[in-house]
Amino acid sequence: MASETTITSDLAEPASRTAALSSRWSGLLIALLFVLALAFPYLIGNDAYVNVMADAFAYATLALGLNIVIGFAGLLDLGYAAFFAIGAYTYGILSSFQLHPAWSGFWQPFAWLELVKKVPLGDATVVHFTVSFWICLVLAALIAAFFGILFGAPTLRLRGDYLAIVTLGFGEIVPIIVRNWPWLTNGAAGLNGAQPPRLFGWSFGVWALPYYYVVLGLVVLLIFVSVSLRDSRVGRAWMALRDDDIAASAMGVDLTRYKLLAFAIGAGFAGMTGVFYVAKLQTITPDMFMFPVSVMIIVMIVLGGMGSVWGVVVGAMFLSLLQSWFLPDLSTWASAFGQATGIGFLQNVDFAQSTELIFGIILVLMMLYRRDGLIPAHRKQVAMSFSQQNAQVGESGSFRLSGIGGESPANAVPALEIKGITVRFGGLVALKSVDITVPAGGVVAVIGPNGSGKSTLFNVITGLTSAESGSIRLYGENILGLKPHAIAKKGIARTFQNLRLFTNLTVMDNVLIGQHARLTTGPIGAVLHLPHARAEEARARARAMEILINFGNRLTPRINQNVAALSYANRRRTEISRALAAAPRVLLLDEPTAGMNPAETLELAQQIKALHNLGLTIMVIEHKLDVVVRLADTVVVLDHGEKIAEGKPDEVRQNEEVLRAYLGRNTQAGRAGIAA
Ligand code: ADP
Ligand code: MG
Repeated sequence: MASETTITSDLAEPASRTAALSSRWSGLLIALLFVLALAFPYLIGNDAYVNVMADAFAYATLALGLNIVIGFAGLLDLGYAAFFAIGAYTYGILSSFQLHPAWSGFWQPFAWLELVKKVPLGDATVVHFTVSFWICLVLAALIAAFFGILFGAPTLRLRGDYLAIVTLGFGEIVPIIVRNWPWLTNGAAGLNGAQPPRLFGWSFGVWALPYYYVVLGLVVLLIFVSVSLRDSRVGRAWMALRDDDIAASAMGVDLTRYKLLAFAIGAGFAGMTGVFYVAKLQTITPDMFMFPVSVMIIVMIVLGGMGSVWGVVVGAMFLSLLQSWFLPDLSTWASAFGQATGIGFLQNVDFAQSTELIFGIILVLMMLYRRDGLIPAHRKQVAMSFSQQNAQVGESGSFRLSGIGGESPANAVPALEIKGITVRFGGLVALKSVDITVPAGGVVAVIGPNGSGKSTLFNVITGLTSAESGSIRLYGENILGLKPHAIAKKGIARTFQNLRLFTNLTVMDNVLIGQHARLTTGPIGAVLHLPHARAEEARARARAMEILINFGNRLTPRINQNVAALSYANRRRTEISRALAAAPRVLLLDEPTAGMNPAETLELAQQIKALHNLGLTIMVIEHKLDVVVRLADTVVVLDHGEKIAEGKPDEVRQNEEVLRAYLGRNTQAGRAGIAA
């Protein structure tokens, strides 16, 4: 084992060395940019430009938040500005004179905490809210996150266009409510009198410089949070559900939880930005949060590169500066040029009026020529060296893996007990009262003609399809009716007949997502880089390597390649690795050798056999009868959703009914065919 590990790390090394090199350079670049950003106000020495820059950073924070929802989790949210509004009004209301309830003893503790002040108003004494900017940053993030969950919950079953339309609706509803709730928000006239932030008793006032540093800090914080989440179990779960939500749930990702988490965190970012924006502007109106704002943030993300943290920051800064700095300047130059040359139309040109047109043109050009954005989230793949491609590692056909299998056939409780399962799709009965028992440590093959219900059987076992009647027990425990992710957690992992890998992610990421149900790091552990989270991540990566090594040089040199770049056979191997990563008690393989050539089939059959030898319980759907005979203890034959035969491979081979089902009525010819 030890020698193999070193060989493999050698193989993987060139890739990791370039990664380390590029990460050192990018670290330097980031440090340089940060120093530049810190020095910018002093280099430029003009408060107006500092102000423009602060606004650009505010857009970057908004874009970072929406990037979590759209870029990471793939949930198209067209009403994101609503959360910006919620944050803004939170601070607006809690720091202005908009609400002034009559003073009573109830408010005294709040006054001690300096959240409110007792002020005279006419003859009465009223409460003046004076909640600090810093508290509101956190509070608004929490309130916006709450609304993120509230608005997200009804959209959980929606995808793509439908999700976009519903979120668009929410985005429109919030400004309408704000406009029609004057006692709280002062309606369309807008809320005035929000206080500028104070720091150690000193008020920021209207000077742009302190705001600039606050928002710069916010951008740095949110970049850090985004990157930490992206590279953690949480970020991988988002990207998994973005790429293929069915496969993600079958690998143990709780879709509800992770979608809501994305909505909540994205909304939290917007809420914080809202607080900053109001504190700087000291006034808010409902028009500031209409649909065009949401669209503008989406354009920023598309321009920068969906899912790319740095790209999104660049995209947001670029468009924001384009609008508030370059276009007005350009208009000035154009009119100066027009006056000098006497070209009439240039004298009155105002590009800032046509920002939306210019944004539209940028969007179209990006879609045509650079769909992944300025800084794509997925880096270009480096070609592998000859030695990497041809190195031989380990011997294929064996499988060494700790912590898997070890099930004993002597176990009286069967691993899987399927009883009376019936599945109907409208009028079609896909499975009709099917009974199958899979003993612990056994291999059961399911065969049958196309459309006989084999894949449907796997879908029922893994919770992707619901059954009309029957029961399924995993080591005696009922699993029918559980959600797919819960079933995965209980110990069933699977592969899919037509491959459901996360194609935009690397081989390593795919196998790491396979471990989702076995890991525990949550968003807080990931962002704070807690020791247990880091240790778990390191263990998970080591485990992934341990699995991948079993496929020799097929996958180990390719761990940092996107799955989309792999050959078909390698994708099958990756999918099996991903399933094994879940440390399953029962492994379901749906036509694992489909599309493989005879040599590859033989190799994979040996590997499956080796898994069986480890004591792993396996259920396999397979067409190639030589593979079935080689692997299975028991063969179950399905035809038109009914179990027509069950037994040892040799018995089933002789069964008249099986031959008829497989090869038509002519049994004699059928037998010749099946024996061949
Ligand atoms: P097999 O894997 O044995 O080739 P399947 O289980 O994929 O067969 O399909 C069994 C039958 O159920 C087929 O007739 C198929 O068309 C139908 N079927 C499978 N999934 C669905 C679905 N989601 N909706 C409607 N019909 C389905
Ligand atoms: Mg099938």
